[in-house]
Amino acid sequence: MVTILDGKNLKEKISNDLKQKLEKFQIKPTLVVILVGENPASKIYVNNKKKTAENLGINSQVINYPSDVTEEELLKKIDELNNDKSVTAILVQLPLPEHISKENIMNAICPRKDVDGFTPYNFGKLFSGETPTVYPCTPKGILLLLDEYGIELEGQHAVIVGRSNIVGRPLSQMLLDRNATVTVCHSKTKNLTEITKTADILISAVGKNIIEGKMLKSGCVVVDVGIFKDENGKTRGDVDFESVSQIASYLSPVPGGVGPMTITSLMLNTVELFEKFS
Ligand code: NAP
Repeated sequence: MVTILDGKNLKEKISNDLKQKLEKFQIKPTLVVILVGENPASKIYVNNKKKTAENLGINSQVINYPSDVTEEELLKKIDELNNDKSVTAILVQLPLPEHISKENIMNAICPRKDVDGFTPYNFGKLFSGETPTVYPCTPKGILLLLDEYGIELEGQHAVIVGRSNIVGRPLSQMLLDRNATVTVCHSKTKNLTEITKTADILISAVGKNIIEGKMLKSGCVVVDVGIFKDENGKTRGDVDFESVSQIASYLSPVPGGVGPMTITSLMLNTVELFEKFS
C-alpha cells in the first residue's frame, strides 16, 4: 500500500506553529514581492504568497510593474528595499521579461533579504558546501516532507529528473549534504528508465507526464514536483498516479504535495531571515 506524502497536512501543522510564534513578535517581518508584467500564473502565485503571509501575521506588500519597466528602474527599487530597515525579505517573482537580466536582478538583492535563496551569494554558499542564509523554497519543502515521514536519505540513491535552478540543481546539493547518492537527469539523458529503475528516491521536476510505474523499482519513494494543466484543463503532475501508486511505497500527490510545501518554506524563510538579521 502506498503512503501519500501529504503536503497540505504538513503545511497546516507548520503554519499553526508559525502563527503562534509570530503572535509573540512585537515587530513583524515584512515580505516585499516584486511582480513584473501580467503573467497569469505569476499573478496567482504572488496573490497566494501575499494571502498566506497575511494569514500568518507577516506584513506583505506586492509592488507591480508593467512588463516594459526598465532594468534600471527595478535595480533602483531593489536598492531602496535593501536599505529600508522595515523590509526584511525581498522576492522577485520569476520569470522576468526578456529585456531584463535575471542575473543582474538576483545579484542586486541583499543576501540577508534573499528569501528565495536565489542570489549568487546564497547559491555559491550552497554549492560550496556552506550554509546559505536560507535554502531555496521548493527543495527545502521537499526535504521537510521527506523528513516528516521519516524517510532515510543517507546512503540512498536519489534520482532527480529536471535540472532547473529552482528545483533540480539546489535539491541535488541539499541531498548530497544529507549523504544521499545523487543522479540528476534531464532532456538529454539517455535511457532514463535504466536510471530511474535504480532510484530509492525519485524526484521529478519536468512539467510533463513522464513517470510511469514500469520505470521504477518496487518500494521506492516518489516525489512529484511537476504541475501543469492537461488538455482538459485538469491539474496534473509528472507522475502517472495510477501505475506509480502500485509500485511506490510513498508518493506525493498533485495537487496537495510539494506545492503547499513550497509556500510554507517561503514563510519559514521569511521568519528565519527576520530572526537572523533584524
Ligand atoms: P524547467 O525550468 O521547466 O525545466 C524542466 C526540466 O525538465 C529541465 O531540466 C529539462 O531538461 C527537463 N526535461 C524536459 N523534458 C524531459 C524529458 N523528456 N526527460 C527528462 N528531463 C526532461 O523546470 P522547473 O522550473 O523546475 O519546473 C518543472 C515543473 O515543476 C513544472 O511543472 C513547474 O510548474 C513545477 N514546479 C512546481 C513547484 C511547486 O511548488 N509545486 C515549484 C517549482 C516548479 P533540460 O535542462 O535538458 O532542458
